[in-house]
Amino acid sequence: NAKQSGRGSYTIYHPEMSHQASYNQWLESELSYALQREEFRLVYQPQYDLNNGALKGYEALLRWTHHEKGAISPADFISVAENCGLIQEIGTWVLRRACLDAVQLQPDLRMAVNVSTVQLEHPKFIETLNAILAETGLPASRLELEITENILIKDHMRMRRLFKKLNQMEVAIAIDDFGTGYSNLTNLSELCFDKIKIDKSFIDRLDQSKERNLMIATIVNLGHSLGARVIAEGIENEAQAILLKAAGCNLVQGYHFGKPLPFEEVLALEERTFDTQQAA
Ligand code: C2E
Ligand code: MG
Ligand code: MG
Ligand code: MG
Repeated sequence: NAKQSGRGSYTIYHPEMSHQASYNQWLESELSYALQREEFRLVYQPQYDLNNGALKGYEALLRWTHHEKGAISPADFISVAENCGLIQEIGTWVLRRACLDAVQLQPDLRMAVNVSTVQLEHPKFIETLNAILAETGLPASRLELEITENILIKDHMRMRRLFKKLNQMEVAIAIDDFGTGYSNLTNLSELCFDKIKIDKSFIDRLDQSKERNLMIATIVNLGHSLGARVIAEGIENEAQAILLKAAGCNLVQGYHFGKPLPFEEVLALEERTFDTQQAA
């Protein structure tokens, strides 16, 4: 009954909680070996121009295959890596790998890489980034950093300086998970970035009501008025794509257009595209 479940929810030593805590501890100790065991790899999900269907680039997404437990989701381990500091090493590996792969792609394609708040706060972040660009030979303008919206409520002055620095380097910035972070619009308007990425939670609710569809158009307009292009993530069907196009969205990414692929498959796909262009 209600009383019992009410009491249950106040239990401090909830079995699920201790399970979560010990799982996180296990993740932390295994994460510390994952790099040397070469258990990480990147997959790449295509991003397309919604107006003409042109491929514009890829988002790099981290995958961890534990030697005994198999695939573990970034949704589970990224926050653990952030909390124990391992994200610095892992994030640097991700950046280098993504840049190494990006140089092998057609020169007009951009590579988007997720960077954690904790990485951005590292005093040597820009230095590390510059070193990776120099070492891999990727032009900075072909790199895009995906920065989640919730970081913008942290240290505004610091973010302003960091964004400015990235702008000067010509590294593009996309505000990831846009619409979920409650950032201050005044603060947002003082930052220079190239894209906003509308969170999947908005896309999931598209098509249900006029109000919701109107909300997407409002977010798209907000992005444009901030001087950014707008990309939508997590598009799973044609109906969503049509509504996004009507709302004025510029770019799209999602299972409907393409799943994240291993790099070998990306290369094969590019060759096929190139062949068709040659044949045409
Ligand atoms: P995100 O950056 O917002 O990435 C989008 C997530 O949505 C990815 O999940 C992607 O695989 C998934 N996705 C794409 N299209 C669809 C779709 O049509 N339907 C559905 N249901 N899902 C779709 P993933 O790869 O599991 O990554 C989850 C989150 O983990 C990412 O969210 C990002 O915040 C984080 N992450 C992933 N790789 C990295 C990384 O290299 N570094 C950091 N710091 N974070 C990462
Ligand atoms: Mg992302
Ligand atoms: Mg996102
Ligand atoms: Mg998201």
